[in-house]
Amino acid sequence: MADSAPHTNPPSGRDYSEYGFASRAVHTGVDKDGQYRSATTPIYPTSTFVWDDVRTNRGYDYTRSANPTRRALEENLASLCGGVDCRVTCSGMAAVDLACHLLNSGDHMIAGRDIYGGTYRLFHDVLPKRGIRVSFVNLSDPDEVAAAVSENTRALWIETPSNPLMNVHDVRALVKVAKEKGLFTIADNTFLSPALQRPIELGVDVEVHSTTKYINGHSDVIGGAVVAGSEEYAKGIAFACNALGLGGSPFDCWLTLRGVKTLGVRMKKHEENALAVAQFLFEHPAVEKVHYPGLRRHPGHELAKSQQDGFGAMLSFETAGDMRFAQNTLTGTKLVMLAESLGGIESLWQYPFLMSHASMSEEARRAGGINEHLIRLSVGIEDADDLIADIGAALEAASAKA
Ligand SMILES: *Cc1c(COP(=O)(O)O)cnc(C)c1O
Repeated sequence: MADSAPHTNPPSGRDYSEYGFASRAVHTGVDKDGQYRSATTPIYPTSTFVWDDVRTNRGYDYTRSANPTRRALEENLASLCGGVDCRVTCSGMAAVDLACHLLNSGDHMIAGRDIYGGTYRLFHDVLPKRGIRVSFVNLSDPDEVAAAVSENTRALWIETPSNPLMNVHDVRALVKVAKEKGLFTIADNTFLSPALQRPIELGVDVEVHSTTKYINGHSDVIGGAVVAGSEEYAKGIAFACNALGLGGSPFDCWLTLRGVKTLGVRMKKHEENALAVAQFLFEHPAVEKVHYPGLRRHPGHELAKSQQDGFGAMLSFETAGDMRFAQNTLTGTKLVMLAESLGGIESLWQYPFLMSHASMSEEARRAGGINEHLIRLSVGIEDADDLIADIGAALEAASAKA
């Protein structure tokens, strides 16, 4: 149970850094089997590793500290995100919490108002017990961010596009304010994945993911990752991950490693479908508003183009009529499933007001624009025509009931 310095484990045999994104997603970190040279990384389901003598092991000593299957995924994600190192955790929330361990008691952090519900709960209800205070501001207004900085403010938490309203925040402008004020920045990049947005390239210090979503992409694993943009943060993250025992299991890492290999192609199809569905919703008489940055009239469209490689496949929309209309629509589909989560190959939709954002007070939900008409949709990789027909039928059925 060594002190888990970032680079004590044997690196993979080859350096793929000169290759493009899709090639790195398929190959980086994978060649861990020196004995039989399997083409994919084996699962190493072992808690401990045998030493050659009291001073020598083969780079691994105990799976809480490091495991070859987990290390393969960590090397892969560090490469895709453009970071120097990564720690893979047992959930996205464990990753969020791990990044927060860069803060000490007495520190203050600034975060956006419309962030992931579970992150809001951690920031609002748990971090204060550790002496860390979080202020929630409108991240679209860098002046409001600057005004929230006090003497003990240490960090700025960025989530863009935001959840569930898909507001696009200017990462470069936020990094600039943070640097001027001496803060470090953490970005939760779950909604776009490194295929479509790379915050570290935009100057962010630490990147967080729920790998449960697009990175694994098949709705069959809960996991997370924290990627350090520089050595300065890599050490603290590696130390806390080992000290707190947050690392992901070799089985889960193996599945996620299989998922990440198709991230590039999945994101292309996700996005193509999302644009078709968003256009359909925009023209539908029973829909009042569509929040999707890929639509030219979305207020964040140009900004998204300037800092993202695509618009992703998360969108939300507000139905006309009363709250029953939205609720009836949500149970009227055959393909799109009523379920929380996002980023899987199957389309899911849900009702933030009573589901994903239920842990916020009604006041906080309303301040974040989360009302009874809002439906959040994660567009999958089914046939776009089928999705449009399915959602259209649900809207018709809800209209007939209204
Ligand atoms: C899902 C999610 C999380 C939390 O991840 P889990 O894997 O569910 O623990 C954090 N941030 C965002 C943006 C998410 O979508």
